[in-house]
Amino acid sequence: MTALANDSSNTYGLHDSILPSLDGLYGEYGGKIEHPELAKAMEEIETGFRAIIKDDDFVNEMSRLRQTYIGRPSPIFHAKRLSAHCGGAQIYFKREDLNHTGAHKINHCIGEVLLAKKLGKTKVIAETGAGQHGVALATAAALMGMECEIHMGVVDIEKEHPNVSRMKILGANIVPVSRGAGTLKEAVDSAFEAYLSDLDNSMFAIGSALGPAPYPEIVSYFQSVVGREARTQFLETTGTLPNKVVACVGGGSNAIGLFSGFLGDTEVEKVGVEPAGEGLDTPNHAATMTLGTKGAIHGFKCYVLLDKDGEPAPVHSIASGLDYPGVGPQHSLLKDNNLATYESVTDAECLDAFMALSRLEGIIPALETAHAIAYAMRVAKDMSPDETILVNLSGRGDKDIDFVLDKVDLSK
Ligand SMILES: *Cc1c(COP(=O)(O)O)cnc(C)c1O
Repeated sequence: MTALANDSSNTYGLHDSILPSLDGLYGEYGGKIEHPELAKAMEEIETGFRAIIKDDDFVNEMSRLRQTYIGRPSPIFHAKRLSAHCGGAQIYFKREDLNHTGAHKINHCIGEVLLAKKLGKTKVIAETGAGQHGVALATAAALMGMECEIHMGVVDIEKEHPNVSRMKILGANIVPVSRGAGTLKEAVDSAFEAYLSDLDNSMFAIGSALGPAPYPEIVSYFQSVVGREARTQFLETTGTLPNKVVACVGGGSNAIGLFSGFLGDTEVEKVGVEPAGEGLDTPNHAATMTLGTKGAIHGFKCYVLLDKDGEPAPVHSIASGLDYPGVGPQHSLLKDNNLATYESVTDAECLDAFMALSRLEGIIPALETAHAIAYAMRVAKDMSPDETILVNLSGRGDKDIDFVLDKVDLSK
């Protein structure tokens, strides 16, 4: 199988280790969808994507929107008080929380909507769980004058009210999904069905670096700007590369974005941080890489947490953006090849890190992001003060403040 990396027309700048084969595989992971009509639609997206990323108009428009709309490049920040508190390595942040809409997801949503527009589509369709992807996509759709249809489980609609309001204000059409458990899995199924009924006019726009080909490739391409910027900025700021780069992993988009900048640097350790929830010895976690097996979910192969019947298991995390029983195929392969390692952090450690960062640096992180911070704090104390850790600060925690106030005793 010829990987894209061996194709002289590859202008990706993505490291070989995370490029797909012609079959859309990353090692044994990933893969293409079999349904004939959907397969044709995926083909159209893949061909269109590979063509436009070499198109000057597209590249210039993307770069203009990154600068003037998202607010890129996001800075690197040296968290001096947090580092001193841990008493070891110096901790730095890549500030994706400063992007418009407050997280990294806007990086791939702008790319996906721009791609849909170039393909002549008038509408983007997606699922959302906690509503973060839905808000970022609705934002990009409003900017580019595209229709936006977001499928969301009724249980999630109830829980994530502020995000539902944001999507409505931005002009998105919310489709409530009441079948099954009424959460993310059913929303994905419903969104794919809606897409299937309108393949000519719409494009499915996925929320992370996962799903069938070509989505992992597209999302990691648009997120790779994070790692590329971070490597240059870190060298400029410190004169060296970080000893470790760390990011939380739900589906894996913010992590693959950061890691991709450092995959050529074998001396830089890449660590993905998963939710251990209430503990790895309980059923209430979402530590897919740590405890999962090789399997399939939503049309692609990856590490997955399965129940006793071999179905994707119900999972838990305090951070709803990490609450998924599968993971992107690129991370599954990086793990097998020992090019990245995957660790886990409990809900309790996540809350401690959330409060520590808020109190020591005046940055309220997303609960998802707080997993990566908790891991950095755990390992920093055993490192020397001239060593460094770069954490992807994937998003801000405004969405989480009421929840945290309920859980944490502020008088302590
Ligand atoms: C959605 C989200 C995540 C998890 O998604 P990945 O695709 O794994 O990056 C992490 N952090 C924030 C702030 C999010 O909104």
